[in-house]
Amino acid sequence: MVEALELPQQAWLQGMMSHRIVTEERSQAMFKAATEACRVQHTQRDYAECIKKVNNALIVVNLEIRRMIDEQTEKHMLAIVNTKADEIAELATQFTPHEIKFIKSLIENIFTAPRRAYCISSTVAISLGKDMDPELSSTKADILCKKLVSQGWITKDAGFYFLSPRSLLELQSYLRGSYEEYMHTCHACKDIVTRGLACSTEGCDLYAHHYCKPRLLSMLQTKGDVRLCAKCKKPWSPLTVGDTTNASTMMIGRSNRNNGENPLGFTSVNRASTGETDDSEDSEEEDELGETQDSGSKRGRSSTVQSRSSQRRRITEEETVPLEEDEESD
Ligand SMILES: [Zn+2]
Ligand SMILES: [Zn+2]
Repeated sequence: MVEALELPQQAWLQGMMSHRIVTEERSQAMFKAATEACRVQHTQRDYAECIKKVNNALIVVNLEIRRMIDEQTEKHMLAIVNTKADEIAELATQFTPHEIKFIKSLIENIFTAPRRAYCISSTVAISLGKDMDPELSSTKADILCKKLVSQGWITKDAGFYFLSPRSLLELQSYLRGSYEEYMHTCHACKDIVTRGLACSTEGCDLYAHHYCKPRLLSMLQTKGDVRLCAKCKKPWSPLTVGDTTNASTMMIGRSNRNNGENPLGFTSVNRASTGETDDSEDSEEEDELGETQDSGSKRGRSSTVQSRSSQRRRITEEETVPLEEDEESD
């Protein structure tokens, strides 16, 4: 039987329902404000109890409170998630079928972006509307993208759209069902990774968040002074995942148009892929093969680190990562 919620718990739940996703900090502040408004004392234990009781109450309506770390801000988040939505059910209540079609295409293009970029430039995003029948104008596509940002379904960072923590939580089963080969979980914390590190060995499925790197490194075995990947046992030499420097600023056309543009759509980034971002929409276009012109060589490394066949880029130019050096990096 569902236990009745006390007044502060009800007030907190109302706040959560209107925001859907908040930082843990804000959630605690909301609970504090709710208890003060109801003139009751509160402790940390009361807050934990509130979440537990609200969660129990939400089960019957197929909702659940879940926690995750925002991969961009690395803040702890708390969200109310629809546990039954195996389709984009929630979105369907607010958008027209035509808009939903665009949103699905947007989600697909972000989640399946080449080179595991897990993001697309806003220019590419807006151009997705042109493939639709009837076409969704650039203006309307732009407005729709902004609406999705304001509702917390996608985030915009340095001119690129990413899936937000809300999408990753609420659309998890949809993403898994539709694009399973792009769904990777962190070796350390088991949550989805769309920004982080991945083993560079072809076919190896070891991923980790940036913020889980210390934990991951402590989990890796060593051979001499070289760390070994926990899955493939090859020297640990990670690539970045979810990096705008890996993202295309051109239309990819995975399931879209083929209008004569370079189907690979790779764009030179002219800088080392160290994770820093800037607005790459002005990036120069790629050469004929879409080969990235990597400025990593500025640190005096061999060009062999660029794996053309896998179209991956290494974040470290070393074939292997000596322990000392790695610990010095962030
Ligand atoms: Zn993790
Ligand atoms: Zn590996």
